[in-house]
Amino acid sequence: MTTIEKLKEYAAEIGFEHFGEVKMDALKFQPEVRDMCAANKCAHYGRSWTCPPGCGTLEEMAEKVKQFSTGLLVQTTVELEDSFDFEAMAEGAVKQKERFNALADKLHADNIKCLLMGAGESCENCKECTYPDAPCRFPDKAQPSMEACGLNVSQVCKGSGLEYYYGNGTLTYTCCVLV
Ligand code: SF4
Repeated sequence: MTTIEKLKEYAAEIGFEHFGEVKMDALKFQPEVRDMCAANKCAHYGRSWTCPPGCGTLEEMAEKVKQFSTGLLVQTTVELEDSFDFEAMAEGAVKQKERFNALADKLHADNIKCLLMGAGESCENCKECTYPDAPCRFPDKAQPSMEACGLNVSQVCKGSGLEYYYGNGTLTYTCCVLV
């Protein structure tokens, strides 16, 4: 079994509603996406190794990605009662995080070298991040989001032939793993 086949098998076992192979040329690291982080609406900019600028420059990301040949986009889709259904939104975000961590654990257990890009949140592994005074405590578990990496998630999905939006009343969280 190839690594990508194994990855797909794991994604199915874990229960992601949707997944598909990422097209490496769809991974475009864009300064405009980084600018949205720099606006600091989430108040995490410059406060973690997984957020800009601590997660590295766009050029460094592009260099890192060259070490990988393929990967998978994995998605959790939840249904919302209405556009104010924040409970379902939060549950979906947690579910996606748990699933993506489970996928990462499987890859680490198999000693498969991987690059993990999560879904839109700053790392919460430690009560207080060591950034910028000391190295990250858990580099294997700390994942920058796709957005923090400078990726436009909907464009990456579209460029890879995967939907980003599954219709009215749904919300989808997307993560990416390269191997
Ligand atoms: S694992 Fe800890 S030290 Fe590393 S980025 Fe996350 S919060 Fe910071």
